[in-house]
Amino acid sequence: MLCLRHLVRCKLVGLCNESTQGPVAARLYTNLALQPKPRAKQVDMSRIMAGADYMDIEQFRVYPWSISGLESCILVQKNGLSVAFDMGYAFREAVKCQHVLISHGHIDHISGLISHAARRHLCCMRPATYYVPGALIEPLKMVASAYAQMHANDKINDIDLKALGLDDEVNLPGGYIAKPFSTNHRVPSQGYLLYKQSKQLKAEFVGMPSAEINALHKKGVPVHDVLLTPEVAYTGDTNFDVFLNPPNPDLLRVKLLITETTYIDDCVDQNGVTSMTRARDRGHIHIQEFVDNEHLFRNVGNLLLVHFSDKYSVGYIHERVYGLLPPSLQGKVHLGTYLKDKTS
Ligand SMILES: [Zn+2]
Ligand SMILES: [Zn+2]
Repeated sequence: MLCLRHLVRCKLVGLCNESTQGPVAARLYTNLALQPKPRAKQVDMSRIMAGADYMDIEQFRVYPWSISGLESCILVQKNGLSVAFDMGYAFREAVKCQHVLISHGHIDHISGLISHAARRHLCCMRPATYYVPGALIEPLKMVASAYAQMHANDKINDIDLKALGLDDEVNLPGGYIAKPFSTNHRVPSQGYLLYKQSKQLKAEFVGMPSAEINALHKKGVPVHDVLLTPEVAYTGDTNFDVFLNPPNPDLLRVKLLITETTYIDDCVDQNGVTSMTRARDRGHIHIQEFVDNEHLFRNVGNLLLVHFSDKYSVGYIHERVYGLLPPSLQGKVHLGTYLKDKTS
């Protein structure tokens, strides 16, 4: 039996070449028959064609430059906060960013780091700081040294690399703190939680005249508690276990969760391996895992999905993702396809 829907989707975007006859075809047909009908969600092509840059997601400005295996660099800004998650490509906006948080050492996430440092030096900008998993410090020093040798310029060796372990935290502009958390990928990897710091008067001083509070403060009496509000999380590449067993419960309480969804199709290859299996084997996430576990994200304000496979077109990504998502996720999921928007 031929499955026309499968043929149209997979052949048009070159997803898979398996036979559409026999048991495999029957399995595909069954899978597709169970899928919910796609709900139309308008893709603003005029914005895409105009080369729109930052996305506004509530209070955050986000520049999601990301395709699996090619380049990933996500910029996030808000009230003095300006960070880059990963540096797979040092595009113009990314070069302006002084604080870079690296999730892991795969080339699509780190190959722009030396170029980022060199371009900032070329533009007489202050050196950036690169926060990386500890395992990456020595390899990155070797890479920088090789570039310095090829470039005959010792300045390239002068890169501010900081190892950030799972128990560490670092202060960022805008009153933010970054804390790493463990993720599950094929190489050492970590994500980052960004907390906003704020002060709150200690309960015992509430109602006291401000002059008395000020006097106590001047004497060195601590009159405030410091509150940490989890605002942003970035997972980098990971499998879905990071949400099933979150290493930090704040991961599922943030206002903006940026995470990967490398696989979204329901193809089965000639060996009977599904995209879901391939995603798990390679340390990635399949969109169906969000659908099946929608309840986990009830306290997440917004999800920005990035790192889609390059084999998917922008139109297919929008149709497929919004066609599958349950109502509870429809309104809070955003799709980061900027790199594809500008190259496909
Ligand atoms: Zn990647
Ligand atoms: Zn990776």
